[in-house]
Amino acid sequence: MTAVVPQTPVKRLFINNEWVEATGGRTFEDVNPATGEVLAHIAEATTEDVDRAVRAARRAFDEGPWRTMPAVERSALLRQVGELILKHKDELIRLESQDNGKPVRESGTLDVPRSASNFIFFAEYLTKVTNECVPVDNKFLHYETRDPVGVAALITPWNFPMLLGTWKIGPCLAAGNTCVIKPASVTPLTTLALGDIVAEAGLPEGVFNVITGPGSTVGTALVSHPGVDLVSFTGETTTGQAIVAAAGPGLKRVSFELGGKAPNLIFKSANLDEAVAGSMRSAFFNQGEVCLATPRFYVEESIYDAFLDKFVAAARALKIGDPLDPATEMGPLVSQSHYDRVMAYIEQGRAEGAHLLIGGQRPPGLDRGYFLEPTIFTNVDNQMVICREEIFGPVATIQPVKTEEEAVQLANDTPYGLDATIWTNDLRQAHRVAAKLVVGTVWVNCWFVRDLRVPFGGAKASGIGREGGKYSWDFYTEPKNVCIAL
Ligand code: NAD
Repeated sequence: MTAVVPQTPVKRLFINNEWVEATGGRTFEDVNPATGEVLAHIAEATTEDVDRAVRAARRAFDEGPWRTMPAVERSALLRQVGELILKHKDELIRLESQDNGKPVRESGTLDVPRSASNFIFFAEYLTKVTNECVPVDNKFLHYETRDPVGVAALITPWNFPMLLGTWKIGPCLAAGNTCVIKPASVTPLTTLALGDIVAEAGLPEGVFNVITGPGSTVGTALVSHPGVDLVSFTGETTTGQAIVAAAGPGLKRVSFELGGKAPNLIFKSANLDEAVAGSMRSAFFNQGEVCLATPRFYVEESIYDAFLDKFVAAARALKIGDPLDPATEMGPLVSQSHYDRVMAYIEQGRAEGAHLLIGGQRPPGLDRGYFLEPTIFTNVDNQMVICREEIFGPVATIQPVKTEEEAVQLANDTPYGLDATIWTNDLRQAHRVAAKLVVGTVWVNCWFVRDLRVPFGGAKASGIGREGGKYSWDFYTEPKNVCIAL
């Protein structure tokens, strides 16, 4: 990848298409979760740097060519970003897996290709979208325009750093906004790599800026900065609450994708092998570090034993190890502190009287890194902390249910409402249950199937607003009605 200026061992901030030191020169360590070794030193931004980045984005929005550029030109530049992600994919796949711990079979088939699609999809969207014009009413013509909103603060979590970052950057820039993105401190590398890609693609100065540092200081300074017009955040529900408080006084527009604790409903008519294979993914994919993961299993009583036997056998067979090995199915958790947090939940589950059926420990032979076996609890009830709070690790709770009504009641008995999965071959049941679940997405006989056009987001404590296709477009544009007397 062509660096704009030569890289030093310290990964710097990307502001105005340049790599710059953080004022004060402080750095923090970025650790490889598979080994515990330091992968890179990252510049720790100060509030002065946040201001510098926002002013660069502001200038690019107010004075630059970006927002006024013909749609086909802006589209071509964004498509080029997507193409360059694909050109540099091998490096990006390795980087994402080293930084996050996810197996390359996931970063190579999901994170990196989807990141390219996020740009290419919105590059195309931008050239196809049209606005409304109501029929002339007597002597007046009304038509709608869609202007970019301004400078966006984009704040992303560590579980899909590049995929979720580009899911915001793509529509944000396509609509003509400029942005400052702050990735999570434990996984900043692929977002920083986008700096080189954006510059190589030829985006104007200040359109895309990256700052790094703790959420409590850098994140807060960014979302409360008066030069920021809108905030798109993906992360924990409690962080979303803190951001509302910080961004609220400025009445900034917000879009939140927050936590989840999704139910997985398995009914007796389900194809058991499909349900087992799908549930393996929805519980343990990406080490269970997925907002959409479905760790709460409710299995109809008559198939409970058969399902559990097959599920446990499949979990035991998961290949855990080096994320860079293409055969690996599950890597390490993202950090020591997250590992400790997940282990504390496992201890709490035992203390509450749940039965630890398998897992709950480091896999044999993996002596370093933050590896954890897939973990299954039975003998649980919905009031236990392990059934209520988001653990965000490979920990599933499985309980039998007598009826469809009980399954629905338990599924909805949660503060979260991101998604749910139903396994059934009973057509009426699928629709009946889907209608009753209070969530943003229901998957029937599948999981994590994403189409970039459909609404994505959470009900209840899982979010505010939706992303995807026209939903992202709505968030990143300001509708204006023009009324002309004829
Ligand atoms: P987090 O909330 O701890 O951090 C997310 C980002 O917010 C990081 O960049 C962090 O530095 C920043 N941040 C922290 N405090 C801040 C503050 N006060 N002001 C501004 N920024 C701040 O989340 P995480 O641990 O990185 O990610 C895991 C969480 O993300 C889980 O809860 C998961 O469910 C959620 N998530 C949700 C979705 C979704 O689409 N709904 C997708 C992925 C992850």
